[in-house]
Amino acid sequence: MKQKTIIFLLLFVFVILVGSLFAYFKLFKKAKDVHYHAGFQVYVDGKLQDFSGAKYMLVKPCGKEEKGQEEDEQLEKAHLHDGVGDVVHVEAEGAKWKDLFQNINFNISDKKQITGYVNRKKIENILDYPIKSYDSVVIFIGKADEKLLKNSVTKKRIIEVEKENRNC
Ligand SMILES: [Zn+2]
Repeated sequence: MKQKTIIFLLLFVFVILVGSLFAYFKLFKKAKDVHYHAGFQVYVDGKLQDFSGAKYMLVKPCGKEEKGQEEDEQLEKAHLHDGVGDVVHVEAEGAKWKDLFQNINFNISDKKQITGYVNRKKIENILDYPIKSYDSVVIFIGKADEKLLKNSVTKKRIIEVEKENRNC
């Protein structure tokens, strides 16, 4: 009887320990998980580009971990989801704007002049600029027209997109 109680107690303690360790690592991992969004627009000679087409979308369900694939790590940095062509999802550290264009196969570093704005402020070397949460970026290829900045993606719009895709 006594031995049984001791075994039961030991088992109980063991289960609690394993359970809290598991919970701790899950929480820890969650805190480390990168996932944020930013708005962007690209104009080529004054014409707004539409990135909402299927060919720009990452079809893989977001948040799914696939280990050991470097290509995926690059895709995690910046991608588009669900037919939304003006809000970028960032799910890895160190993402720059050029990562987005690389990942959606949009040849941005052409011979033409590139002018970039972050939250309506002109930024040098926009492609090497980090993607930051809720930033709104406008990139002009060729002709730059600052008047168009007033149409840039708003924080409200980014939050709306976040609400629509809770799992992304
Ligand atoms: Zn997302």
